[in-house]
Amino acid sequence: MSKKIVIAHRGASGYLPEHSMEAKAMAHAMNADFIEQDIVMSKDDQLLVLHDHFLDTVTNVATVFPDRARQDGRFYAIDFTLSEIQSLQMTEAFITQEKAVYPARFPLWKSDFKVHTFTQEIELIQGLNKSRGRNIGIYPEIKAPAFHRSEGKDISLAVIQTLKHYGYHQKSDAIFLQCFDPHELLRIKNELFIALDINLKLVQLIAETAWFETGHYIGGKKINYQYDWMYEMGAMQKISEYADAIGPWFPRIVDSRSTQQQLIFTQLVEQAHQYNLLVHPYTFRRDKGEIPDYANSFNDLLNIFYIKADVDGLFTDFPDLAVQFLQGQ
Ligand code: CA
Repeated sequence: MSKKIVIAHRGASGYLPEHSMEAKAMAHAMNADFIEQDIVMSKDDQLLVLHDHFLDTVTNVATVFPDRARQDGRFYAIDFTLSEIQSLQMTEAFITQEKAVYPARFPLWKSDFKVHTFTQEIELIQGLNKSRGRNIGIYPEIKAPAFHRSEGKDISLAVIQTLKHYGYHQKSDAIFLQCFDPHELLRIKNELFIALDINLKLVQLIAETAWFETGHYIGGKKINYQYDWMYEMGAMQKISEYADAIGPWFPRIVDSRSTQQQLIFTQLVEQAHQYNLLVHPYTFRRDKGEIPDYANSFNDLLNIFYIKADVDGLFTDFPDLAVQFLQGQ
């Protein structure tokens, strides 16, 4: 069995604003094995590291460009140029400009954070790998490829060209490329990798159908993708034909009805391993209310997943704690 890994979810996002360069440098210093990037595109075709294709939950866009929202009230990254985006102040994820998603984390609107590009982040991580003598990997996610296509942009091609340019060529390189959209993963494997003559490890992220995570656009209408088949028998065999790993929501591995006396494990890890798929569940957080009752601490939660459920890695906002846990094993 290969070494179990820690994936710094949006960087060391438990301590600094998600997807800030500072959060990525901190995750590197904490020796996470991989650092995650979520990628969306700007109006002028730049690849941005941003969790959503909206700017309004992590920046002051609504104050700086109040008349640039679409009809749904959202400010789309794809409607702004990189220089406009980099003129914005970025902060912790918020519900309103005064109320953070995680109130105990880094304070809202303090210091000076900016949205950055995928290129800037790769150069940061590769630079730190050089200066620190490490080979910490990247874990980019192509966000909403069908949405980008409906806006006339091929985000996957742009991401893969960038990866090739920065020396990510083969499966043994320190990278996992992730996406929720199975059609796009197939296209990446069967068309884009062949056209660009590279071959990287692919991760099928698995959502709940009810989240409306993945849309397909038919005649301009958004159709919600149905994930249910991925939880049925035989699904792992199908996924193993194009992916190297799965990224499931963690309650799909340990049933939420579990108690401290009795943990209920699903078949998912075993079935995935049967087809040589690695399992990297998301997202492990130490914040109040984020540790399920069946674990008596964050460390216990890590033990339940890494050891008892035997996952191969996990996404966490607190990479230092997961690194420390694995070092103790
Ligand atoms: Ca992600």
